[in-house]
Amino acid sequence: MALSILPFNEVHIPDYDAVIVGSGFAGAVCARELAERGGMRVLVLEKRPHIAGNMYDEYDEAGILVHRYGPHIFHTNNQTVFNYVRRFTGWIAYQHHVLADWYGTYIPVPFNKNSMEMVFGEEKATHLIEKLIQTFGDERKVTITALRETDDPELAEVADFVYKNVFLYYTQKQWGLTPEEVDPSVTARVPVFISRDDRYFQDTYQGMPSLGYTALFEEMLSHEGIDICLETDAASVFDLEFESGSEDAALSAIKIKGEDISGPIVYTGPLDELFCGRFGRLPYRTLDFVYETYDEEYKLPCATVNYTVTEDYTRATEFKRLTAQKAPKTTIMKEYSRAYEDPETQIPYYAILGEENQAHYERYRRLTDSLGNFHPLGRLAEYKYYNMDKIIELALALSDEILSQTK
Ligand code: FAD
Ligand code: UDP
Repeated sequence: MALSILPFNEVHIPDYDAVIVGSGFAGAVCARELAERGGMRVLVLEKRPHIAGNMYDEYDEAGILVHRYGPHIFHTNNQTVFNYVRRFTGWIAYQHHVLADWYGTYIPVPFNKNSMEMVFGEEKATHLIEKLIQTFGDERKVTITALRETDDPELAEVADFVYKNVFLYYTQKQWGLTPEEVDPSVTARVPVFISRDDRYFQDTYQGMPSLGYTALFEEMLSHEGIDICLETDAASVFDLEFESGSEDAALSAIKIKGEDISGPIVYTGPLDELFCGRFGRLPYRTLDFVYETYDEEYKLPCATVNYTVTEDYTRATEFKRLTAQKAPKTTIMKEYSRAYEDPETQIPYYAILGEENQAHYERYRRLTDSLGNFHPLGRLAEYKYYNMDKIIELALALSDEILSQTK
């Protein structure tokens, strides 16, 4: 079974039982589940010229498999999720390692016992590690926020070092904000780890799809019940109807080509875009990716180097170290973060978490509450900071819910 890709103008809307906007994990998992388990005919609308959302990868001119929307490493503690993605591809075992470039010395991130020895010297580090263990316990993860609250002057020195040399400049580059200004859950993703474990993630299941993510999505979306329209923006093809003409009036129906959509609509794009930003645009960070190909086998000392005290970019990733591809050349990618300002030319990558932005988002969300068949799902539509595994978990749960209602 191959992918079924149709031009939008050839699509006959009454043929479909469900409409899905977006073909990242949120959209693709729902499409597969509704088609396979529900026997539904599913129409996927995707505004990009390809499937796979931010996970999209392809071979560049040098023949290196590169990720086009940021480096994606699969990791989860959820066995159901891992079993689910294993259905569609083989996996290679992979454990992600990140080094911070600290004025030319590479120190492991998350900052751990090994990093402490490199920075403070073995003798002092041994003493500080003992104190950390006494205070927080061995093999524990401590957020930079919690570490900075310590009263002990020696641990305060550790906290100060990590804050200034790992978090401050990187966070300013990534968010345009200081670590105190970002939501604490953001820096908590990368705690100080009182351990010798140098891996970036400690999840039980970690790996990379052996033929790449695009191949995984091709397999997932290849089903007789699924048709896909690429380069089709839901915001342009949806006719939205509202309960009244007032700005806060709730959505009462969605039509496509004049046809009412009464079956489930799973929407995985930004909610503010769907409503043309009527309450003002939701804030996001966007990224610019700069690729460099070198005539040498490897360029970086590990898969990702975080530039925590120097450079304008946040991090650089060497794809071959993620994918285990063998080739005489190598391609790396640098990430530059900036404010998202133009939906026409930029992609919203990161929601900026915080109370004010959440309230702003909720205002959009309320417009959709009255439309029982409309389901916002995913990093954009829910304005959340989700990893891939969480999205798959949520997409499976939503599919269960939809299928139980349509039985
Ligand atoms: P997306 O993948 O963004 O898919 C949404 C899709 O909807 C896109 O294809 C988009 O084109 C389409 N769309 C949007 N609006 C419309 C519209 N109006 N009409 C039609 N189509 C539309 N997670 C991990 O687990 N591990 C990682 O290593 C990791 N690295 C990341 C690195 C970066 C730089 C970023 C930004 C994210 C990373 N993530 C990682 C998170 C991961 O990208 C998300 O969890 C995942 O993409 C969420 O899937 P999604 O389907 O919600 O969104
Ligand atoms: N962070 C940091 N220095 C680092 C790594 C992470 O300051 O070396 C902070 C930064 O604010 C970042 C957040 O921790 O945005 C989450 O990092 P993660 O690597 O999870 O970000 P992602 O891969 O999602 O971009």
